[in-house]
Amino acid sequence: MDIRELITKSAKEQSEALRNKEVSALELTQAVYDQIDTVESKIGAYNSLTKDYAIETAKKVDEKIKSGETLPPLAGIPLALKDNMNLKSYPTTASSKILSNFISPYDATVTLKLKENLIPIIGKANMDEFAMGSSNENSATKIVHNPWNLNKVPGGSSGGSAAAVAAGEATVALGSDTGGSIRLPASYCGLVGLKPTYGRVSRYGLIAFASSLDQIGPITRTVEDSAMLLNVIAGHDEKDSTSLNEPVPDFTKELKNDLKGVKIGYIKELCTEGLSGDVENAVKKSIETYKSMGAEIIEISLPLIKYSIAVYYIVATAEASSNLARFDGVKYGYRTKNPENLYDMYVKTRAEGFGEEVKRRIMLGTYALSSGYYDAYYKKAQQLRRLVKQDFDNAFSKVDVLLAPTCPHTAFDLGSKIEDPLSMYLTDIATITANLAGIPAMNIPVGLDSDNMPIGLQLLSDCLNETKLLNVAFKLENAVQFNYSIPSKSLVK
Ligand code: GLN
Repeated sequence: MDIRELITKSAKEQSEALRNKEVSALELTQAVYDQIDTVESKIGAYNSLTKDYAIETAKKVDEKIKSGETLPPLAGIPLALKDNMNLKSYPTTASSKILSNFISPYDATVTLKLKENLIPIIGKANMDEFAMGSSNENSATKIVHNPWNLNKVPGGSSGGSAAAVAAGEATVALGSDTGGSIRLPASYCGLVGLKPTYGRVSRYGLIAFASSLDQIGPITRTVEDSAMLLNVIAGHDEKDSTSLNEPVPDFTKELKNDLKGVKIGYIKELCTEGLSGDVENAVKKSIETYKSMGAEIIEISLPLIKYSIAVYYIVATAEASSNLARFDGVKYGYRTKNPENLYDMYVKTRAEGFGEEVKRRIMLGTYALSSGYYDAYYKKAQQLRRLVKQDFDNAFSKVDVLLAPTCPHTAFDLGSKIEDPLSMYLTDIATITANLAGIPAMNIPVGLDSDNMPIGLQLLSDCLNETKLLNVAFKLENAVQFNYSIPSKSLVK
């Protein structure tokens, strides 16, 4: 197979080509860098490249193939790492000016696992500053363009990770999801994005945004690739006190099970109101497809969903205001020039180093946590969060998996929401609840709208039930046959 064709294929197919010696890992990695040379100036997916590291890893894979050693399943598969996860000795900026000169002193746990699995890390992917945003327009580095239409946003905050995979600048990627940042860009870029159960993947070495909501997960072209990458990164980690000490199954194992007797609930509040016509039709069609495969379809009402955005923007900003206190110009990162005194140094460093959206969130979060307002806002939000979780517990006593759109609409035009933070926040209406409840949720592409932009469907399951979730997603993926390689092909000159 032509190598330019191969870089648009799934990780599974690429790994077979490596094993059959149709191509070497070095050639595959090099072909991805050639693609970056061709398209990156139009996309903006990466903050920095980690070419020495990727080439060295690819060579190791080739040596092992040559000597007949067994390889981990994803060895040699080019990966984009969101720029909020540490890769030792390379920059980690979280797309913020305040970390523009920061070099990671250690590896994140996920990065160590990628290393153990001989996965070449191609570069650090662009993102919204500190993962705050839904369009990737809050990056201090540069804007990311959607490979399906360069005038549209790729979604955020893991927009660089998703754009890289959609544009053939990586085969798989890691993103982080605090309120939808894996699923939303996956949906806008026609990819599979999975936010695992909270605690399933270690957050050690991930720059914290809102620690009780943040979770790392895969962005891939297929459901099987997603399961394979989750196999690599999942597991207990002593270095993360919220990491779950639970057995990790082989997530690829149940993919092919049939859906007889599986109960799927569509979330009434998300499937009926405020959707674009194309998204609504795609949701209906997916429900029909599941019925035809023998699944039982049930309507589930989650009335508290209407409060979820309000709850999220209290909890997330409160945690962010505390987490971001560490960026003060003393310990690491950017420091203002010529401050008058210590206080002036703190103030100017933060005023100059943080972008608008980050400052907005720090102010909001500090306000919500201040004495006098704590009970009215933060405590109320936490109480509601508990009720949201109870709603899900009830739902999962009736069904195996829940279904909803990932977003009420497809990717929007660059610049169209950036002046209006509230309308930007509303893009998260369907994704945020999974983070509030800690449950796993994923996006899979189910078609194109009338503008030829990908439409994403969201599936959610109970905690630690990713195998069922992946199985249900795999079945729909097979039925839909979404052609994920279209934009990559049109971008290859
Ligand atoms: N869009 C949401 C926000 O801006 C979610 C971001 C995320 O998941 N990191 O907070």
